Amino acid sequence: PTNHLRHVESMKTLLSGAGNISILNAVILGEALASEENDLVFPSEKFSVQAHVPSPEKYLEMYRRSIEDPAGFWADIASEFYWKQKWSEQIYYENLDIRKGNIKIEWFKDGITNISYNCLDRHVEAGNGDKIAIYWEGNEPGFDGTLTYTQLLHQVCQLANYLKDIGVRKGDAVVVYLPMLMELPITMLACARIGAVHSVVFAGFSAESLAQRIMDCKPNVVITCNAVKRGSKTIYLKDIVDASLKESSQNGVFVDVCLTYENQSAMKREDTKWLDRRDIWWQDVVPQYPTTCAVEWVDAEDPLFLLYTSGSTGKPKGVLHTTGGYMVYTATTFNYAFDYKPSDVYWCTADCGWITGHSYVTYGPMLNGATVLVYEGAPNYPDPGRCWDIVDKYKVSIFYTAPTLVRALMRDGDQYVTRYSRKSLRVLGSVGEPINPSAWRWFFNLVGDSRCPISDTWWQTETGGFMITPLPGAWPQKPGSTTFPFFGVQPVIVDEKGVELEGECSGYLCVKSSWPGAFRTLYGDHERYETAYFKPFPGYYFSGDGCSRDKNGYHWLTGRVDDVINVSGHRIGTAEVESALVLHPQCAEAAVVGVEHEVKGQGIYAFVTLVDGVPYSEELRKSLIAIVRNQIGAFAAPDKIHWAPGLPKTRSGKIMRRILRKIASSQLDEFGDTSTLADPNVVDQLIDLADS
Ligand code: ATP
Ligand code: MG
Repeated sequence: PTNHLRHVESMKTLLSGAGNISILNAVILGEALASEENDLVFPSEKFSVQAHVPSPEKYLEMYRRSIEDPAGFWADIASEFYWKQKWSEQIYYENLDIRKGNIKIEWFKDGITNISYNCLDRHVEAGNGDKIAIYWEGNEPGFDGTLTYTQLLHQVCQLANYLKDIGVRKGDAVVVYLPMLMELPITMLACARIGAVHSVVFAGFSAESLAQRIMDCKPNVVITCNAVKRGSKTIYLKDIVDASLKESSQNGVFVDVCLTYENQSAMKREDTKWLDRRDIWWQDVVPQYPTTCAVEWVDAEDPLFLLYTSGSTGKPKGVLHTTGGYMVYTATTFNYAFDYKPSDVYWCTADCGWITGHSYVTYGPMLNGATVLVYEGAPNYPDPGRCWDIVDKYKVSIFYTAPTLVRALMRDGDQYVTRYSRKSLRVLGSVGEPINPSAWRWFFNLVGDSRCPISDTWWQTETGGFMITPLPGAWPQKPGSTTFPFFGVQPVIVDEKGVELEGECSGYLCVKSSWPGAFRTLYGDHERYETAYFKPFPGYYFSGDGCSRDKNGYHWLTGRVDDVINVSGHRIGTAEVESALVLHPQCAEAAVVGVEHEVKGQGIYAFVTLVDGVPYSEELRKSLIAIVRNQIGAFAAPDKIHWAPGLPKTRSGKIMRRILRKIASSQLDEFGDTSTLADPNVVDQLIDLADS
């Protein structure tokens, strides 16, 4: 209680001094906060006291400086890294306004550095070489390994030397198709060390998707492994690579070398299909190279990597990130949003094939010299308690995951969680989709024993790092809200004409100035970059997401704007309806789309997955509709409940509403690009259940 009061009091006192930055005005409405204390989850005094940002005042002070003096703010932070040569006097350049010419963003231009050096050598030289960099946990319990920072540096150097030896040069693309082995971050860091541009493709994509990505950037080398076990399934990655290389060569793109790691726990070398003039075993060549390798110094604006978005809304976009700004931004966001301390053991369940794995498995944590856990397998193998088993085994203190996993584990039952101690946990995190308040509470109360703040981080492949996120310890949380912007980020909510909305509002989420981690272009298609992100609302970066801001200034993501449903003139975010449905104790997951409706314009069509073992019934259908009525209002009541044994998801676990919309409107032959779908069978099951 004392801490509650302290927060509310300080928010009140700040009301007056908030200045003219609109976001600040919105943040501090102490009166309203005090009256709403029931919805608020306060950090404990114990947590706040030790946090990097212990209070709203401290946040405001730092935030204000980051907006009023971005050059000074970011220069101070950037100076903590190693730069061979300092950036030019003008620390950044931006044109986000399409009316004024081509879109261009630059940070730390003419600064010469290397991100691999900053992730590794810097820590070793500071005497931290013996600290564990990676704990690796295999799919099978009992299979594990570790690398210290010194050992990691050595392995990175060996691979870097090999790549140089086969002719990979600064600026060349390297396609990586690896599972969550230590070799995946090693490969990323080795590419960065020699200035090569990695394009990591999630090792779950089909041969066709991989071929598309290979043909896009035309690498000379592809790095993969022969096979991997995820749960009880073996996936033959090398076969997929073979098929994709065949396809790309038929289209005139030839890859000289396929460097293949022998993943013995999944498959023996003798059983692997082999093309002698092209394929090379990692273990036969890489360990023979020296363990030191001079770094290739690059400009801050030289490309670091290329990565495709998840493809939730259509054809994936090849997002290009550069070196310096991305480095400074991922490191800083990691440090603050997770309140990182050197003693932490950090686990992010995302695969390095996604942006989350780039920024918050590899670069962000390692720039901070953190101990990172890399898990090879499925989070529910051999049973749904595996995550907490791993947490206890390694004393994980920061656990970062996605709502889809939280909902799945919630459905599997509390007993899998309570069986484990979880005492080491300190901070939890969520990313990828809006987290439903009921899932938030389960995560907070059960997994974190009501002790660990949850950082619900809103960001995108395009943004490089966190944009709107809690800073644990700084202020009270509201379950389901991503709270406030990170330093240097100016989010705005605009209406359909592009007019900025003030105070309590709902609309299109845009950003009005650049931040260091912003993407610079879409690979090979700057025009699409401008059209997709900067033309819809001239003067702003448009995220594609809908968002509302409540009277206390907290941000609530409402889903993609393409998914907003308009029922008789009411604009309803999919997230809102889904969260109401998931409140029902027998509803495990829900996805809502709009369908054409004669009277209302659009009607609400809900796909519902029930808790295991619960039978479909008319009564249940009614009670699901009733819960939406009660929570939101009669206008939001679903017109149809469609039973769903499973939902179509991207391989990163997000619901693909685009496909659900087609099913809901019976346009069964127009699914479009489904290559990023995790399990295509789900679609057939849903079609079968359409009339039940
Ligand atoms: P595509 O752009 O190809 O359709 P995608 O947008 O799913 O794919 P990502 O860049 O991986 O690809 O995901 C970013 C999106 O994920 C955001 O635009 C937002 O819709 C959603 N998202 C991420 N984090 C959150 C969060 N904490 N709360 C709500 N939504 C989130
Ligand atoms: Mg997107």
